[in-house]
Order: sequence, then C-alpha cells, then structure tokens
Amino acid sequence: MPNKAVFDCVSIFPEMFGAITAAGITRKALESGLWSLDVWNPRDYAENIWRMVDDRPYGGGPGMVMQAAPLEKTIATAKARQQTANVAQSRVIYLSPQGRPLTHTRVMALLELLTAGTGLILLCGRYEGVDERLIERCVDEEISLGDFVLSGGELAAMALMDALVRQLPGALGDAASAEEDSFVAGLLDCPHYTRPELYAGQAVPEVLLSGDHAKIRRWRLKASLARTRKRRPELLTQRALSAEETQLMAEILADEAHEQCGEH
Ligand code: SAM
Repeated sequence: MPNKAVFDCVSIFPEMFGAITAAGITRKALESGLWSLDVWNPRDYAENIWRMVDDRPYGGGPGMVMQAAPLEKTIATAKARQQTANVAQSRVIYLSPQGRPLTHTRVMALLELLTAGTGLILLCGRYEGVDERLIERCVDEEISLGDFVLSGGELAAMALMDALVRQLPGALGDAASAEEDSFVAGLLDCPHYTRPELYAGQAVPEVLLSGDHAKIRRWRLKASLARTRKRRPELLTQRALSAEETQLMAEILADEAHEQCGEH
C-alpha cells in the first residue's frame, strides 16, 4: 500500500484551496484518503498586530515583498506537522515564474517522491514575490506554470497538486485513461468523439464505429502522431519512433504530400 500523498501549502489566501478540495477527482481522492492537504497562513505567524507579512522593497520601486521571517516560521510549522503524518522528509517548492517550467516528466518524478513518503510544502508567493533570502534558506526547488505571470502562487500550487493527485493509484475511475493522456507516451492525445454520430453536418470518423479494436488503436496512434507533428513537432525530436510508428509517420507524410498536390 503506497503512502498517502501529503501536501502542505503556505498561502495568505487559504480559502482559494476549496477549488481543489471541494470538487471533482481531487475531492473524491481526498475523501478516499489518498492525499491530505493543510494550508498554513503566514499571517498567523506575523509578529505585528496588523498580521502584515509584506513590506516595501529595499532599493525602492513599486509593489511589496513577502517577508522572510513569517514565511520561515510557517514553513517550519508545516514541516513539523508533516513529521507527525508519517512523512520521511519534506521538500519545499516555491511556485514561481522564474522556476523550471512544469512538465509531465517532472510531475512523474515528484509523484515517485510523494509515494515514497516525501511530503511536499508548496510556497505561494504574492505581491512582487518573496524575500530572496527566504528562497536561499528554505526552498528546495522552484516550479513555474509557464512563461507568464500570475497574481499569486495558489493557482500554480493547485495545478501541481491536481496533476499529481490524478496520478495516484486509485484516483481515477479508469487508470487506463491517464495512460492515454497527452505527454505520457511523449505524444499528444488523439481527438475524441461522442454521441451524436452526426453533429453540425460533421460525422464521426467511420473507423471509430467499426468495432474493430485493432484498427481503432492504429487510427488513434496515427492521429496522435499527426497531431503531435503539427502542433508540437519538438516532442517528436525528443523521442524515438517504434517500427509501427515509423510506418504510420510515412503514411502521414504521404497523406500530407497527397493533400498538397490536391491544393495545387
Ligand atoms: N515579480 C515576480 C517576477 O516577475 O518574477 C512575479 C511576482 S507574481 C505577481 C506573485 C507570485 O505569483 C509569485 O511570487 C509566484 O508565487 C506566483 N506566480 C506568478 N507567476 C507564476 C508562474 N508562472 N508559475 C508559478 N507561480 C507563479
């Protein structure tokens, strides 16, 4: 039986996390005891009556910066709590636009740590970010959701937790569905269709109605390859093709050449 995945978040907006605990697969998995979440508000560790945890930046300039001391105390409290929850060690992740962009590969590496008993502490910044000395002292890793800037780290922390929780054994009704998702095999997922057979004059590809599972599997693999080649060609340069995929890619190139001839 794998360990329960243990998450603690450090955030001045604890109420935001209802989005992940109150709905969908993540809620069901929480209720089944596959993961746990505690959210710690650094305002509870502020040493002033106003519960302020930010101050003006040295050197001037716009905005405020989250102070190191209340964040360090909050992280220490979260770590102590994790130790009482059967956690071998804690890993502190700061969600930051300056971190390593999150990928499926990184999600799976973190999943391995989680299921081996490492607890994750997710630090959510606000304002201009957090005092650099806190990052140097307490943060093990910085993760970015992408090359854009959010108002705070909460949505990024929830995106990371969602990506991890849905991979926990037992979280999805049908574990096979995660195996066919984009990026798992280094390709984008194939297109999907459901009822009705004819929608706005467009029919479902005939092969999907054939009941021939071998043909359907081959069609889906070819569609995945074609879609990846069109939308994310760099994924294909990072991955070797099997003999079947090489054959399908030759067909895709021939189809494309045929279409181009038709256009001229
Ligand atoms: N001044 C910072 C910079 O340019 O690097 C951005 C601060 S942002 C307004 C406030 C907080 O949102 C950050 O401390 C971080 O926790 C979070 N955040 C913003 N964009 C993010 C992203 N792409 N990925 C993860 N977290 C992000």
